[in-house]
Amino acid sequence: MNEIAIIDADFIGRKNHRFPNLSCMKISGYHKAYGDFVTLKTDWDNLDAFNKVYVAKVFTDTPTQNAGLFGDPLDAPNVIKGGTGFFFDKAPPLPPHIEHAMPDYHLYDGVATFKTYTDYSIGFLTRGCFRHCPFCVNRRSNKVVAHSPLKEFFDPTRKKI
Ligand code: SF4
Repeated sequence: MNEIAIIDADFIGRKNHRFPNLSCMKISGYHKAYGDFVTLKTDWDNLDAFNKVYVAKVFTDTPTQNAGLFGDPLDAPNVIKGGTGFFFDKAPPLPPHIEHAMPDYHLYDGVATFKTYTDYSIGFLTRGCFRHCPFCVNRRSNKVVAHSPLKEFFDPTRKKI
């Protein structure tokens, strides 16, 4: 069993942040399905205690920790950074086995009470766009494509999708 840490950088670094990170939930769902122990870390301490640390960030202006003298802990070999907050429209996609994993709808239990987290099944039926809004991460996309079937992320105990 591996010890996995997941850090939602927007949750730590933004005031009044209101929604969960779907990528974090998929990463958690994937690892828990394989028997790994997953922790949603809400600080930047002791990252070297984990076999793997995933740090996800949606917004480019969310601050992330820098440890000064010892270098950025997010550059450590056990840390994987991802998301538009780090790479904007060059962000690598999640690997398919994680992208299409059932989200862990309990990742934020006891930490946050996002309404969209507690009431909804969350996922992408389609991805991409054709409108080219200049500020948007989808600005280079030319079309909408089918992405996930509903059953991939549907939790029947939740009233909404
Ligand atoms: S903001 Fe982005 S996703 Fe929305 S319509 Fe514009 S390009 Fe498409």
